[in-house]
Amino acid sequence: MILSKNYQEIHRCSTSLLTLISDKKDSQIAEEISDEDVEKLFERAKKQINVNAYERNTKARQLCVKKHGYTCCICGFDFEEFYGEIGVGYIHVHHLIPLNKIHEKYQVDPENDLKPVCPNCHAMLHKTSLSIEDLRTLIKK
Ligand SMILES: [Zn+2]
Ligand SMILES: [Zn+2]
Repeated sequence: MILSKNYQEIHRCSTSLLTLISDKKDSQIAEEISDEDVEKLFERAKKQINVNAYERNTKARQLCVKKHGYTCCICGFDFEEFYGEIGVGYIHVHHLIPLNKIHEKYQVDPENDLKPVCPNCHAMLHKTSLSIEDLRTLIKK
């Protein structure tokens, strides 16, 4: 059964899985989670790990900022402008592709799939399911 083959990997992803499991509306204990649920959670955890990897990928990051610059595309914060010398070249990058659109053969497109965001806006994107446009509209209000 696929599940047991993935067992070790599931353990490696256990932190993400626990987060995902605890995110479920009605909290379930381990025995109540069906094999199908575990497979779905495992898939999601695996994809989440990929997304985080895209955001940490140095090469992809470089190509993203080369195209979009170092200013937050949501609030316009510029680290160099605010902090001077120590802020030069500092920005986070956010990966835009929804988890359900990521499949085995997916390759990150740094210019279109990654956008520069400041750590505050980045945190709000990950805390909510708002898009960059939604968050931009929200902070304008
Ligand atoms: Zn920002
Ligand atoms: Zn992100």
